[in-house]
Amino acid sequence: MCGIMGYVGPSEACPILLDGLARLEYRGYDSAGVATIQKNGTLELRRAAGKLTNLRRMLGEAPLSGHIGIGHTRWATHGRPSAENAHPHKAGPVAVIHNGIVENYLDLRTELLSRGHQLSSETDTELIAHLVEEHLKAGRAFGEAVRETVQRLRGSFSIVVMSETSPGMLIAAKTATPLVLGIGEGENFIASDIPAILAHTRNAIVLEDGELAEIGADSVRLMRFDGTAVERAPRRIEWDAVAVTKGGFRHYLRKEINEQPQAWIDTLAGRADPGSPRVNFEMDLLPKGGPAVIGRIVMVSAGASWITSQVGKFVIEDLAGIPVEVDYSSEYRYRRPPIDERTMMIAVSQSGETADTLAAMEEGARRGAHLLAITNTVDSSIARKANAQLYTRCGPEISVTTTKCFLTQLESSYLFAIHLAAKMGRLKDADAEQMLRPMFAIPGQVKAILKLEPQIQQIARKFATAHDFLFLGRGINYPIALEGALKLKEISYIHAEGYSAGEMKHGPIALIDEKLPVVVLIPNDDLFEKTLSNLREVQSRNGRIIAVTDRATDELKAIAHEIIEVPATSRRLTPVLMTVPLQLLAYHIAAERGTDVDQPRNLAKAVTVE
Ligand code: GLU
Repeated sequence: MCGIMGYVGPSEACPILLDGLARLEYRGYDSAGVATIQKNGTLELRRAAGKLTNLRRMLGEAPLSGHIGIGHTRWATHGRPSAENAHPHKAGPVAVIHNGIVENYLDLRTELLSRGHQLSSETDTELIAHLVEEHLKAGRAFGEAVRETVQRLRGSFSIVVMSETSPGMLIAAKTATPLVLGIGEGENFIASDIPAILAHTRNAIVLEDGELAEIGADSVRLMRFDGTAVERAPRRIEWDAVAVTKGGFRHYLRKEINEQPQAWIDTLAGRADPGSPRVNFEMDLLPKGGPAVIGRIVMVSAGASWITSQVGKFVIEDLAGIPVEVDYSSEYRYRRPPIDERTMMIAVSQSGETADTLAAMEEGARRGAHLLAITNTVDSSIARKANAQLYTRCGPEISVTTTKCFLTQLESSYLFAIHLAAKMGRLKDADAEQMLRPMFAIPGQVKAILKLEPQIQQIARKFATAHDFLFLGRGINYPIALEGALKLKEISYIHAEGYSAGEMKHGPIALIDEKLPVVVLIPNDDLFEKTLSNLREVQSRNGRIIAVTDRATDELKAIAHEIIEVPATSRRLTPVLMTVPLQLLAYHIAAERGTDVDQPRNLAKAVTVE
């Protein structure tokens, strides 16, 4: 998820690696490290928690020489952020850096431990180094050893491997997260993003999924994981210096909206498999006595996490039949809510540091509740406070308003609800499998929605001068109407309200006139006709309707001024696909109005004060 940089050539590797990592800093990270093969032939590492300055300081005190090396900035998914868990990871003569997730890491870990390997970190990455080491010991050539290793790995990953046994060669391989080869004169580079190599060369080869590259100073050999050779000529990168910031996007927000398909895949990785009815988490999320001891569930959260909790409530109650209460953390801590050992408290927080949520959890812990954290940040205060953690694994989110974290919180709630209902015996295997199946289609469907951007941008232009917006939704999409309104007001400063479509006639209908844009979420479900009737109420008062739907009937077309069509998914998953056009709409309206999209006024990413 974070930064990868590798170098082989005549220059000192270390400064080049550090410079490359610095250019990837925009991706956010929690620790960093480098490894080189020293002039005496030994491979050595330096790793530090925190920012690159810590690593730089360490290298100032204990420098690394050598003309070949790898460097990494890590964003923890498996194991807390610390120097021991930072990359590169070493096993015998081998060092590995890795972005992404090895899904079958539990199996591989057990396997390696049983064969006597000593592991020194909690990461999935270290296992890769040990597997390569084993293949080398078995007499394989370096390239072969890595190729056999990647065939054992499941998940979405990119790796770069270095070995004392082949001191002039780096090997890179990937299944999903990007890797770019920079081709120089007598030197070559490998990085997870173009900005890291641009200071050195503009000739680049982008690796495709399922490809591996053997990289020497003067040569590059590409092949598929099965060993078949691949020919691809370098192409010239014409980016100017400005475009390379934020990976080519003008704003982090746009970049993060675009990262959602990958974020979804990473959150699903290892937890559900196509064709299987099971949801497997890395640990037991439920209290010791299992579902039988859960009397009710309380979800505490703030901001957009409160909204995903509302969707969570809907799905958990629907599937597991356990009553779920959702509360603002800031309110909860000052009520005297009934909590006891039969309460399961789920704290939802993107940063894992939300002070109000932490305080609500303290109250829960005091009264004996079982605490589960749904958060994006490994080892955050909220993760540590909880008895169990469900990490959303969407990578660092830098824009203050949330997008990919929001989507993966929804995803995590579905997984949890299906898991819980199955444990309770309320879901037959066939039903669970059927519920999980559409989750695998979501990344492609989100990509399809991202292609609607030109249309959404046009709509944004038309409505960017509005003073108010109304967002309407019903049922499971009512919270998404709240999210659409929240997103718009946060980044464009336009006043917006989210309302249940059925509730509109009890108040907000007074606001409707020809100047008011009304965004309505109208999926093809059993509330379709009802919502259509609500829209007629808007139409008769001349409101301007923007409909988001997976069922653009003639009737709807006749009522709505604009229609944004999203792909169809299962009824419970529609909030995921409804969210994405609302993100793009808010983004383009804000960009049109020239606001500070990534850091809107008065807002902070992690609200660590009460
Ligand atoms: N899963 C790996 C870890 O937790 C890689 C994380 C990353 O992409 O930075 O160490």
